[in-house]
Amino acid sequence: MKRLIVQILVVVAVLAARGVHAQQTIRAFTGATLSDGTDRAPIANATVVVRDGRVVAAGPANSVTVPAGATRVALDGKTIIPGIINAHGHVNEPKDLRTYAAYGITTVYSLGGEPASVFTARAEQNTPALDRARVFVAGPVLTPTTPDEARAQVAGVAAQKVDIVKIRVDDNLGTTPKMAPDVYRAVIDEAHKRGLRVATHLFYLADAKSLLASGADFVAHSVRDADVDAELISALKARGVCVSPTLMREVSTFVYESTPDFFSDPFFLAHANAEWVSTLKQPARQEAMRTSQSAQRYKAALEVAKRNVKKLSDAGVPLAMGTDTGPTGRFQGYFELMEIEMMVKAGLTPRQALASATRDAARCMKIDRDLGTIEAGKWADFVVLDASPLTDIANIRRITSVYVAGNQVAR
Ligand SMILES: [Zn+2]
Repeated sequence: MKRLIVQILVVVAVLAARGVHAQQTIRAFTGATLSDGTDRAPIANATVVVRDGRVVAAGPANSVTVPAGATRVALDGKTIIPGIINAHGHVNEPKDLRTYAAYGITTVYSLGGEPASVFTARAEQNTPALDRARVFVAGPVLTPTTPDEARAQVAGVAAQKVDIVKIRVDDNLGTTPKMAPDVYRAVIDEAHKRGLRVATHLFYLADAKSLLASGADFVAHSVRDADVDAELISALKARGVCVSPTLMREVSTFVYESTPDFFSDPFFLAHANAEWVSTLKQPARQEAMRTSQSAQRYKAALEVAKRNVKKLSDAGVPLAMGTDTGPTGRFQGYFELMEIEMMVKAGLTPRQALASATRDAARCMKIDRDLGTIEAGKWADFVVLDASPLTDIANIRRITSVYVAGNQVAR
């Protein structure tokens, strides 16, 4: 008898939940100009219909039927762009996903060091109720010193079901040993055998060439010691390997030699890690950065990186916007917007910079079946702006609201 009552209660609860669900699952966003992230021209007075978290129709108001019972959201005069995808961030804890989303970054590909709680967040995000950024994970950055260790470590992260394998091939400006080619070749070979791609941190042009020849799948930083050349460009294009420029990573290595202007921007302060801000304002710390040799070398490296972004873009190499945010001083969310602006300063058009942060990033990370553009079938992740970033990239900061799976993000 007791069991029967419990069963009846469960059925009633399920039906009640479905009833609430049905009322809430269809939304129609009307009146905005839609830049859907594809090659099609912006659509004035567009309608976007979302059901159960996914786009079912997006186009001119006169060609899209709003289903009966849909909740209408009027966005007259606004501009809609796809949610921004950060192809190289670091998620330290699940609440970072709310910070990213507050700035319109609706997906973060975290390239290493995530705790178990972030793996759990990934496991729970396939729901129409989601209202924070999506995350993909690399797990621990691998640090093998022999080929055998390399294969064992890849087996370890494969067992954790990571989305990509991450290695670092760098000597930190000549101060630490660099992973040897036979070791990273073993990582790449073992990862490929297990159906996993390999993302690599790098700094030097010669390493980039060697890594590509060894089968690396994703270049997680700009080449920063030299201008990219025809040999590297053809190696990237031959296998469709994408590059994530992470210009803001370089900025973070020297910008705190004084108090940066953005420390007084209310839009920055709204979600900035206050502890970091106060630490980075300390005069002794700023003095140390001013006199740091590595800070000055990375400052010079930024100029090389900016030239390389433009060269790669002109050559048709796919770029995936990324920042390397997450470590101290690399502010999640705000830095991604600065990165997009810096790509434009480096010579990209606003359209190219935006594509690298939406459709192209999704393609590069192999998540474009579900993300990257506002098209029927994809998750309804988008940003509503006061004005179009295609006319002035600074408009990317003028965020009215952010939606993930059609749900408005708290911000
Ligand atoms: Zn990183």
